[in-house]
Amino acid sequence: MSVMVLALAGGTVEVNDEALDGLRMSVRGDVILPGDAALAGVRPVYNAMYPGSPGLVVRPSGTADVVDAVNFARDHGLVVAVRGGGHSVAGLSSIDGGMLIDLANMNGVEVDTDAGLAHVQGGALWGDVDRETQLHGLVAPGGVVSDTGVAGLALGGGEGWVRRKYGLTCDNMVSARVVTADGQVRTASADVNPDLFWAIRGGGGNFGVATSLTFSVHPLGPIVAFTGAFYPASDAAKVLRAYGDWARTAPNEITTLCGCTTLPAHPGLPPQIHNTPFVVVGGVYCGGVEEGMAAMQPLRQFAEPLVDISQPLPFGAVQSAFDPFFARQDLRSYWKSTFLADMSDGAVEIIARRAQSRPSDRTFVVVFHMGGAVNDVAADATAFSERSASFMVSIDGNWTDPAEDSNVVSWVREAWSELAAIGTGGVYLNFTSLVDEGPTTAVDRGLGGNLSRLAAIKAKYDPTNLFRRNNNILPAS
Ligand SMILES: Cc1cc2nc3c(=O)[nH]c(=O)nc-3n(C[C@H](O)[C@H](O)[C@H](O)COP(=O)(O)OP(=O)(O)OC[C@H]3O[C@@H](n4cnc5c(N)ncnc54)[C@H](O)[C@@H]3O)c2cc1C
Repeated sequence: MSVMVLALAGGTVEVNDEALDGLRMSVRGDVILPGDAALAGVRPVYNAMYPGSPGLVVRPSGTADVVDAVNFARDHGLVVAVRGGGHSVAGLSSIDGGMLIDLANMNGVEVDTDAGLAHVQGGALWGDVDRETQLHGLVAPGGVVSDTGVAGLALGGGEGWVRRKYGLTCDNMVSARVVTADGQVRTASADVNPDLFWAIRGGGGNFGVATSLTFSVHPLGPIVAFTGAFYPASDAAKVLRAYGDWARTAPNEITTLCGCTTLPAHPGLPPQIHNTPFVVVGGVYCGGVEEGMAAMQPLRQFAEPLVDISQPLPFGAVQSAFDPFFARQDLRSYWKSTFLADMSDGAVEIIARRAQSRPSDRTFVVVFHMGGAVNDVAADATAFSERSASFMVSIDGNWTDPAEDSNVVSWVREAWSELAAIGTGGVYLNFTSLVDEGPTTAVDRGLGGNLSRLAAIKAKYDPTNLFRRNNNILPAS
């Protein structure tokens, strides 16, 4: 049976039987067509706004399959999407009618304790990494939800629970293997293809399919000092002001966030906050447990808490604490982010007001404390260019009813506009939905002064822009 697949040139192109048979014969993993029962096994994406309906799926078992899939897409002129963990809020790993490379089966993780490295395949989730690294009391800096994919997060930056001590995820990448648009398997490291290595640390999936990524690992866990102080949402301004003051002199060992939302009754949450709007100050200490609990004590005294669950916890439990509230295909999501130089009075006023007028219960307004090791890296040392901010604010519109789409999206856009007006000008592309503006505008903001260098590297490795389902960088002409 032949299939019609979205074409790079516009419209669709017929992929005939013979071509599909050839692909099936070479690929060791799966080749899946619309209507095949195996389609149900393709990794679902997070955002319910973009379930996707691909015209052709290849689910590689390894790098050789990725090479075949990339060659096939290029030779047939197909629009191709690459899915790592599937957590793209903007729906960039979803596709309707095009070809999907679903890396879900490439989720191996190998920790080399002698070298202090974790080798991670391109379809692994952070939970896969945490499981293997924590066996050795080690951590590879990731995100704050264990169901998020490693590759998309790392290629776009990566802000997790240890960033102020160890930097962004991309700062801990020491090499990667990338299948570029010409079907070549390239190493990217400080010594081999250094331009490609520079570009994939912040430039996203623009340069090819990362089949494996190698990260530095650091000692932490299995038990870590954890702070989880939940304050009433009505105290948002007070808490944010105290948080901003505290953050000015906070040690790099402490990484925190301060977020406002409402969560449903759930056995993983204390009953005091079930269906109750709250501001949570969450923190992890990179160091001794007792020392960490003491150092984070001030975070628990910003106001009278509704409940305080601060305690030593397994790092794996901290990593997966948010997971139940971000199940795949549960929520519709529209997120926007901005960076702030400081927690000014103006910022406190906007964030607190917006935190209390969220358009849906599940909408989050979250402040990430940046600085520390993140800002020790020069703005042009990696493609990730925002290295000056003290905070990142993410306005995460989450809801379930499609009838609410325009209401929540408009609210997030308005809140973001207010905050961006006092921000550094940058955005975090991994926390950026693209529905409302040309992707180029967001990519300009996200990559800042590094964009023209990235466009030249894009022209070298992907001159026809085969990889365009991403925060797309147009090849320099
Ligand atoms: C619930 C939730 C929590 C989050 N928490 C955090 C957080 O704590 N910190 C943080 O920094 N970010 C966080 N994010 C944002 C996250 O970094 C991005 O959504 C990221 O893109 C997810 O990576 P993924 O592999 O799951 O994405 P996918 O949806 O699979 O892909 C996203 C983009 O990356 C590309 N891509 C994916 N894999 C590869 C690959 N192997 N090779 C080349 N390109 C690839 C895709 O083509 C696409 O353009 C969160 C997102 C969600 C939904």
